[in-house]
Amino acid sequence: MKVFNTLTRKKEEFIPLKENEVSMYVCGPTVYNFFHIGNGRTFIVFDTVRRYLEYRGYKVTFIQNFTDIDDKMIKKANEEKITVKQLGDRFIEEYYKDADALNIERASTNPRATEFIEEIVNFVKDLIDKGYAYEVDGDVYFETKKFNNYGKLSGQNLEDLQAGARINIDERKKDPMDFAIWKKQKPGEPAWESPWGMGRPGWHIECSCMAHKLLGETIDIHAGGYDLIFPHHENEIAQSECRTGKAFSKYWMHSAFLNINNQKMSKSLNNFFTAREVLEEFEPDVVRLFMLSGHYRTQLNFSKELLESAKSGLERLYNAIGNLENLMEEVKKDKIMEKEKQYLKHLEGYKDKYIEKMDDDFNTADAIAVIYDMVRDINSNIDGKSSKELIKFSLDLIRELGKPLGILQKSIKQELDGEIEKLVEERQQARRNKNWALADKIRDDLKSRGIVLEDTSQGVRWKQIEQ
Ligand code: AMP
Ligand code: ZN
Repeated sequence: MKVFNTLTRKKEEFIPLKENEVSMYVCGPTVYNFFHIGNGRTFIVFDTVRRYLEYRGYKVTFIQNFTDIDDKMIKKANEEKITVKQLGDRFIEEYYKDADALNIERASTNPRATEFIEEIVNFVKDLIDKGYAYEVDGDVYFETKKFNNYGKLSGQNLEDLQAGARINIDERKKDPMDFAIWKKQKPGEPAWESPWGMGRPGWHIECSCMAHKLLGETIDIHAGGYDLIFPHHENEIAQSECRTGKAFSKYWMHSAFLNINNQKMSKSLNNFFTAREVLEEFEPDVVRLFMLSGHYRTQLNFSKELLESAKSGLERLYNAIGNLENLMEEVKKDKIMEKEKQYLKHLEGYKDKYIEKMDDDFNTADAIAVIYDMVRDINSNIDGKSSKELIKFSLDLIRELGKPLGILQKSIKQELDGEIEKLVEERQQARRNKNWALADKIRDDLKSRGIVLEDTSQGVRWKQIEQ
């Protein structure tokens, strides 16, 4: 399996530190608002990476943090006249609602920065003791020039960066590229005790600290959106590697932006749709299929037209699932026939191709194309004359290949049954209310869909008739 490593700018063979186990840390949201569908892309991408690693047999420990203390959190809490803690609680709850709706699997742990203050303080202390950080009147800065490899992730060198940063000289820092790892409390801000007085952690330090604490000093994969390469991940590397003397992460993965009119979707540009807004119009499967239809390292443009086209693509796939589910009920032959065995082998070939594509740096775009090819093939070769065993094999295979992508798990038959049962119950209610017109209308509507109702002593039964 190959993974593109931002650190080496190459696709590398994926060999985790421990056989069959993967430790993975993904930078999560700042919880001051609903997340937008651009953030959603990054969450979906790394959820897919995790699911696929699991599909390939790895035991994955997946950590995604919540940044619940920073300038944006403080500003928003002040505007809303609530505490930063209340704001964080609220939007963490909202995060789960949207992430669950997008079929994003829950992380092994979602640590909150404010729950790790003691560990962060110890981390900062360590860096000062080792001579990599210094205090100035209650603030603590990391001294970038003490880390020889500063810039290695983003491929920049410190001199160039320093030259660029000279415009905003901060008298307190020894060097313009030094960054705050502990911030002195300003009036009215939430703060915690520390050897440097009341204050709070800087942003970068929380991820280094929580990754160390929850996954160890060296982890397998550290990931986030492309905008996090610099300075966030560059700074995480500097702090972590200075503290431990070890490599922080073996692989660094970054997902490209979701754009809108060729501009990065972001809160600051106010060109965003929240995940929730998008989910009001499109099903989660559609959103995921759209997101994964491009490679994760390629920018993707968000548009309703592209979502509509993902929707019709998905319909084709679910039609096939619905057909196979119906065939499962109808066909009489159970055991696979000799002449079908060849075809079953042929279908397994699609799985091999899918794995080949996904093993190549999670090429979901090509893997989805393989699913389409396979479904077309199944549609034209499986029918009422096939055996149940072959039909079931095909159905299971479509679902199996959909699972790492977080799609194609629904049962069309069950959905339809649920929908009909709901209508039957509505008709019963209408009859109890003596609303005969509505009751008749529901029965006629169902009839036009080939569903007939029978009133029996045990209640109403329905059955589908051939049309
Ligand atoms: P934030 O809450 O802004 O810190 O972002 C949470 C995650 O979403 C980070 O990994 C960001 O890199 C990522 N992200 C932000 N905007 C976009 C975008 N337009 N497309 C893809 N990922 C994004
Ligand atoms: Zn982070």
